[in-house]
Amino acid sequence: MLVAGFIRPRSTSADVLVTSTDSTFTPAPVAQGAAPETPEMPAPTEIVNVPQGEIAPTPLALLAGQIRDNGGGAISASSGGNSPENWNPPALEVPLARHPFDHYWFIRPVAANNRNYGLDYYAFGSNGPANDLRIHHGIDLSNPIGVEVFATGPGTVVWAGEGHINDLENITAYGNTVAILHDFGYNGRKIYTLYAHLSIILARSGQRVGSGDVIGLTGNTGLVSGPHVHYEIRLDRNSYFSVYNPELWMAPYAGTGVIAGRVAFENGDPVMDVQITLIDLASGQITHRITSYAGPGVNADPNWNENFVIADVPEGHYLARAEYGSLLWTGEVQVLAGTTNWIDMQQPAASPPTETP
Ligand SMILES: [Zn+2]
Repeated sequence: MLVAGFIRPRSTSADVLVTSTDSTFTPAPVAQGAAPETPEMPAPTEIVNVPQGEIAPTPLALLAGQIRDNGGGAISASSGGNSPENWNPPALEVPLARHPFDHYWFIRPVAANNRNYGLDYYAFGSNGPANDLRIHHGIDLSNPIGVEVFATGPGTVVWAGEGHINDLENITAYGNTVAILHDFGYNGRKIYTLYAHLSIILARSGQRVGSGDVIGLTGNTGLVSGPHVHYEIRLDRNSYFSVYNPELWMAPYAGTGVIAGRVAFENGDPVMDVQITLIDLASGQITHRITSYAGPGVNADPNWNENFVIADVPEGHYLARAEYGSLLWTGEVQVLAGTTNWIDMQQPAASPPTETP
């Protein structure tokens, strides 16, 4: 069933791209003549295709990412949280695991009357719409400065300070950051969550927190081009290299499910940074566009081994499609609410054309 209002703007050509640069970066070994540690900021993303006569977005709204395509292509802006446009459906109760591989154990880091979902065009594993951003190790929830950020599950704060420093790495680009070691593990593995770019930290290292406790406020500290909270899930180690897709850990909205899949060549190698188009077979409409993980550094779920995830997809029957050169992959999926719905796209349906004289 397609529920009006559940479809979120995705990276269609008509979407407005809002500047939001990830601030995280890969700490690289310092070589002679290496570039300075601070990554270059990519040029701000252009705002494109704002229809004439629509409400002019305010700069604050643009920065906050509060731009929505209301289904019909109309673009409106709001000045921040607590506007009806920001009111999202309730997320399902956690912990939620309807499939043996599911682990929707965390709430969302901001409330449902704010932007409590990740930017689709800079999803986990993405290198940005222009392929010029660092591979994203988390998801970005764009919100104005000052929105409450919640601990997404119970645990102990293991870091609260500027940047993120531990015996594994020292990353200043995160800005004000909180990291939590959760009370529960996953198959014997520790689980951490991390919240970056906060304007104010409202937790201290060693503090016990419960799910929903306010640990800080959204901000734009560190390397960012707009305020948001960068959110990560880490397994085993509290490290930049131990990240997994938060959308496989964060309970979906009521009435929606999560699609995970893998686009791979015949030899099993993942196809990197390929666009996946999702089509609702009831309406024939494209509902989502996303790219597969763009390279190494981000981890696939130990059980699913996915290289793309689409969160909060309304129940229904969908076709996914990916093209790479002359190769074409398609897969159908029936999306059930409250669970992961797998699309297998591991075999291209078309082969490269044979050479003709
Ligand atoms: Zn980010």
